[in-house]
Amino acid sequence: MTESTPSKRTFKSRFANAFGGGKPRSRLQKLPPSTGSTPELLKAHAREGSIGGSTLRSQYAPTDCDQEWQIDEQTGERDHTGLLHGLAHHESFDSLDSLSQKILGVQPYRKPGEPMIASLSPELWDHIADHLTPDDVANLAISSKTLWKLLGPAPWVALEDPENHEYKVKFLVGMDHLLPDHLLCFPCAKYHLRIKKGQETLKATRILNPIFDCPHATNVAYAPSRARLTTGHHLPFSFVQLVMRAQRFGPQYGISADTLSRRYKDRESEWMHQTRYYVHKGRLLLRVVSRTFAPPDLPISGQRHLLYSREDYFPYFSVCAHWRDGELMNICKCALDHVVKPKETVRQQLQKGPAVKLSLRNPNYFVTQCSRCRPMRRCPQCPTEYLIELKLAEDRTDPDNQFKQAIIVTRWSDLGDGRNPAEGPWAACNGQSNIDSFDTIGKRALSGIFESQSGVTIPGQTILNLNPSKMNKGEEGHTWY
Ligand SMILES: [Zn+2]
Ligand SMILES: [Zn+2]
Ligand SMILES: [Zn+2]
Repeated sequence: MTESTPSKRTFKSRFANAFGGGKPRSRLQKLPPSTGSTPELLKAHAREGSIGGSTLRSQYAPTDCDQEWQIDEQTGERDHTGLLHGLAHHESFDSLDSLSQKILGVQPYRKPGEPMIASLSPELWDHIADHLTPDDVANLAISSKTLWKLLGPAPWVALEDPENHEYKVKFLVGMDHLLPDHLLCFPCAKYHLRIKKGQETLKATRILNPIFDCPHATNVAYAPSRARLTTGHHLPFSFVQLVMRAQRFGPQYGISADTLSRRYKDRESEWMHQTRYYVHKGRLLLRVVSRTFAPPDLPISGQRHLLYSREDYFPYFSVCAHWRDGELMNICKCALDHVVKPKETVRQQLQKGPAVKLSLRNPNYFVTQCSRCRPMRRCPQCPTEYLIELKLAEDRTDPDNQFKQAIIVTRWSDLGDGRNPAEGPWAACNGQSNIDSFDTIGKRALSGIFESQSGVTIPGQTILNLNPSKMNKGEEGHTWY
């Protein structure tokens, strides 16, 4: 709660500016040893005040000095006095004042603020509260006893208003670190007791798998948010919550990302799926690898039969909500067109007819895909990347033709920080909000980040836009099937 207050952020950033000096240190290494002479150092200290001097000074001086330090016009380097100033500030970081600020997050020697808060009239505080969102008013009310009394029951009445559901959720998420035995139920906006604490396991969608006692568990209007992985398999948001809570606050708050990983065969087709999860910089990343053998020369109806589930006309492999727009299904079909015919001896060919193709005796299985279906693609509306590949794989069930080509579709997605299913990457992947993924992901691809955790380096390549025409027709479009 307190982290989001602007004053705190300003203070932190000022702090970081003042003491995070990577540059001055690297410059120091370049200097010849004679330049750091003691008299100059002393002079610098004398001008600036002693090491660990007054809090205000150590807090503000470096930022000021950053601008004032003399830069040598010819070499572009700071002059020596400036460099020594940097040393002095660096040392002052170890002062008790600064440490107490760092550890306790408070400014020392500050007078207690309660009398000052109480000196302002309740009407004025009500007026201030009018300018805040309902969750911020509630946070203000619980920040001190005085404010609790001054603001009265109004903040809590406001939070109970169904219109303020999202604000109530935001307020409650801030309590997560206090409730390891409970989990926030977003449709109810209430914390429910975890009934399988630490033993929560992800199961197929058809299996009833409650992890807390929710009075609205069977109510469709209160359906919890979940992401479709493959046919018959979903990832409920509560599992993202559990993983990210455990990551943030400790193992008793949830489960580890590894426990979500699965390998399974599709119930109604030959597709095999492998899911893996990985936490990177406070966000849960997902990878789903789906594969199936791909026969050569499939007509369009055969390609559709191979790619789409008869159950819901979704692809068998894992997709984000925007799969119908853009090129995803077309590039899958393009890849299927590159599948090479299996090996046929001259004798096998003669059994079919008089025409003999010598190339069929030794087909080149390592055929490359084309520039359309080979490159990695990124969905422009959510943080999801796709790669379609053709690979030779062993089919132990077919003794006549043991090695066949398989189509492999890999999806990487950023599922967000597990704080709120209504916003961020989770909502984007599920089509409930849009983000410009080329802007937000930046230069380093999700796939690259994910694969580097197991030591695999994906060679740098251009990631193409999955939907270059920017047409968003969804089911109404005509190209997705
Ligand atoms: Zn509930
Ligand atoms: Zn192609
Ligand atoms: Zn998408």
